[in-house]
Amino acid sequence: MTARAHQLKVREVVSETADAVSLIFDIPTDLTPRFAYSPGQYLTLRVPSDRTGSVARCYSLSSSPHCDDRPTVTVKRTLGGYASNWLCDNVSPGDILTVLEPAGAFVPRAWTHDLLLCAAGSGITPIISILKSALTLGRGNIVLLYANRDRASVIFGSRLHDLTRRHPRRLTVTHWLESDRGLPTPRDLATWARPYRRHDVYLCGPTGFASTVRQGLGQLRIPDRAIHREDYRSLTDNPFEHHTPVAATPQPVDPTAATVRVDIDGESHTLPWPRTKKLLDVLLDHGIDAPYVCRESACATCVCTVEQGRTRMLRNESLIEEELAQGQTLACQTLPESDDLHISFDP
Ligand SMILES: Cc1cc2nc3c(=O)[nH]c(=O)nc-3n(C[C@H](O)[C@H](O)[C@H](O)COP(=O)(O)OP(=O)(O)OC[C@H]3O[C@@H](n4cnc5c(N)ncnc54)[C@H](O)[C@@H]3O)c2cc1C
Repeated sequence: MTARAHQLKVREVVSETADAVSLIFDIPTDLTPRFAYSPGQYLTLRVPSDRTGSVARCYSLSSSPHCDDRPTVTVKRTLGGYASNWLCDNVSPGDILTVLEPAGAFVPRAWTHDLLLCAAGSGITPIISILKSALTLGRGNIVLLYANRDRASVIFGSRLHDLTRRHPRRLTVTHWLESDRGLPTPRDLATWARPYRRHDVYLCGPTGFASTVRQGLGQLRIPDRAIHREDYRSLTDNPFEHHTPVAATPQPVDPTAATVRVDIDGESHTLPWPRTKKLLDVLLDHGIDAPYVCRESACATCVCTVEQGRTRMLRNESLIEEELAQGQTLACQTLPESDDLHISFDP
């Protein structure tokens, strides 16, 4: 198992709605630096299974590192789902769960901007973390559209109400209940968002909702590439069942390989990088415990920065244009284009 997996004690289980619970974790002092996180990031939980040993599932942190004491994830039951129902039914205070260190790139880079936040259902979890953090750290205005099936499905309803009372000038929350108004259309979204079209956009919700929001914002000429999105999906890979590479596998010499210096966990490694091999695979082959979860470009756990040289990504479902312009790339999809490169995983 990767060295990034740790045993954490569940301190509290909070029932948020009939089908959503929050799990609040205790972080032992020696793990505090490893569980430092940014608003919008997520944890990956190991859920035991008789069938497969375990499954790995990501859950966004609903807590804010800037105003909550302990990291908290909020899990909503998925109809017919395995892990979400297991977590809702089985976890009690005092239980120990195996958890990967925080990851993800759905994180605002600046807190000075106005924010337009769109969430549906359990998509509220990273959004409320960003919202609470922005209220604490920033000065900008924040608008949230939060869509749910009905009033009983609204997660964090009273928390949001409380925050709007405390920050009436800065925070506006619009609840969109399908039971009252039907599903929102792109036109509804465009009408609602028109006054806020210069805000930075963060979006998290099921595919249908996300597509409605993107179409609605498109009508306001907000390009898709400017919308920060978190897409929920279940992982097909399982980082908990892989063995950590402990020693480098001998690699055949490839005379056409590029050379890359990689900074990771405070160490520097200089490695040959074959032209057709993805950076993450190169690192794992050399026994380097690089962070990853999905290996499909969706989770952004393996995000790193190209400090020198040119690279290309085979697939990118996570990074938006602004992040690409800052040199960010996904190690699980990155190939070299230059001969000499420098890549950093460290902040
Ligand atoms: C970055 C990110 C953040 C997320 N944040 C949140 C969040 O904050 N809150 C939230 O609720 N969700 C979140 N999700 C979604 C979450 O990770 C899961 O996808 C969701 O909970 C559904 O998982 P599930 O196992 O319940 O359902 P499914 O994945 O639909 O379960 C069915 C799958 O489980 C398998 N399966 C069934 N039975 C077993 C068994 N006994 N053993 C092994 N496998 C079995 C089936 O083969 C099938 O593949 C997030 C996802 C991502 C990627």
